[in-house]
Amino acid sequence: MKYILYARKSSEDKSKQILSLESQVGEMKKMATNLGLAIDLVYTESKSAKLPNNRPIFLEMINFLEDAKEDYGIICWKIDRLSRNPIDSGKIQWLLQQGRIKAIQTSDRQYLPSDNVLLLNIEGSMANQFILDLSKNVKRGIQTKIEKGLWPNFAPIGYLNDGKGGISVDKVRARYIKKIFKLYSTGNYTMKELANQMFKEGFRSRSNIKYHKSKIYKLLKDPFYCGTMIFHDKEYEGKHETIITRKLFNDCQKVMGLKLHPKKKQPFFHFRGLMTCEKCGCLLTASRKKKKYVYYYCTNSRGGCSEHNHYLKEGEVISALSGVFDRLLIDEDEIERMHENSKELLINNNPDRREYLEARNNLLDEIKKQENRKEELFNLLLDKAITKEAYEAREETIKAEIKCFNEALEKLENEQEVTLTEKDLELTKELFLSPKKQKKAFLKVSLDDKRKILSKLLWNSTIDNKKLAKVSFKEPFETIANCSENHDIDKLRRVRDSNPRCLATYRLSRSAH
Ligand SMILES: [Zn+2]
Repeated sequence: MKYILYARKSSEDKSKQILSLESQVGEMKKMATNLGLAIDLVYTESKSAKLPNNRPIFLEMINFLEDAKEDYGIICWKIDRLSRNPIDSGKIQWLLQQGRIKAIQTSDRQYLPSDNVLLLNIEGSMANQFILDLSKNVKRGIQTKIEKGLWPNFAPIGYLNDGKGGISVDKVRARYIKKIFKLYSTGNYTMKELANQMFKEGFRSRSNIKYHKSKIYKLLKDPFYCGTMIFHDKEYEGKHETIITRKLFNDCQKVMGLKLHPKKKQPFFHFRGLMTCEKCGCLLTASRKKKKYVYYYCTNSRGGCSEHNHYLKEGEVISALSGVFDRLLIDEDEIERMHENSKELLINNNPDRREYLEARNNLLDEIKKQENRKEELFNLLLDKAITKEAYEAREETIKAEIKCFNEALEKLENEQEVTLTEKDLELTKELFLSPKKQKKAFLKVSLDDKRKILSKLLWNSTIDNKKLAKVSFKEPFETIANCSENHDIDKLRRVRDSNPRCLATYRLSRSAH
């Protein structure tokens, strides 16, 4: 196998890190001798590789390799000498995959046909910048085009792209478009009727399917047909041939304005969305009677629900929903007992907090020390006081130590999380006691606040015969409700025994406060 030596340095490559052309060739030749590689051809070039197809010598080399009858490899100093843009990189990648290039040897590594990484290896940021610039240029091109009155996109229905960057009237479909506008302007047609009639008359899409009424609607709203292009919400005067007059277009807009009434805004009901029907599972909706009274009722959207005839007054809804708090009540003495027990456990199980803090600070100190060492080491490397190999070896050791300390710290903190402070327990007790107070508050506050309180507490509830049936609580209230259910203190005790943190499991950030 023979090798081609490719060396490149552009006038833009100001960096001292990049060797001159002569040095690159010299270095590569030395390397080839060391590795026993035969250099057959030498290409040198003083051009930038940022833009594709910008380097005649490079392209000559590619052409040569495409037609070469023998096996060739490339030697270059660094992979970025070969390409710095995705297009040229793609060419190299392709030749590698085709086996037209058997290997690429650089001063730091070898790339083989099996390597799929070449594209990625070429400075990612450089490639990305290239793509960004490219898309910026494309956008700029589009903007220029539209400002000149030319449509920059795929032609709308009724027009065809002429293949030269322009559009022309699609004689077949333009006829239908004109008819659609004319018929619609009479006010005697709906979109659906127009869609059906045009289909009967032979109006088809490019893929030979029917245009749906939504397409007809879009079409009737598009001033493109009378000469105005809308692009990114801006209007531009187009130079294209119009299909209809502006007057006809405006007439159609008037008809549309009369026909399409904006949807009425749904009135707001405070408790809608919080209740479903226990019998059929449908949502309870509400309406206002005599402009004053609000009633809630099962929408009965599945049909045949007996609850459908129960109309709940707003007051009845409030009274039913206030039952939510009763599901959360736990005997206060029992809460007190749980609290005392938990406090005891806390004291017995909590390792000395001072000890923990000391251990934690020690670890943090160690980590900081190692970070400093790493920085010093790097300075040594910059000052060339140590070799790269020595630097890497020692850096590796330091990194391993930092990792060790971090793991120890994580372990320590995780273990510490189990033990809570007495303050946490106090807050948790408050949380368990809170439903009673919340019920009182709920009955007093405004409708808005009532809804807010309930939204924090529950996902949903069901109503049966004007009474609260089931409640699906949000956490941590679900747990409290489970504890409270049937005042099953035994159950509560079991939960507590199996998990001594029962009272304190829930962080109060998740609570109702
Ligand atoms: Zn129902």
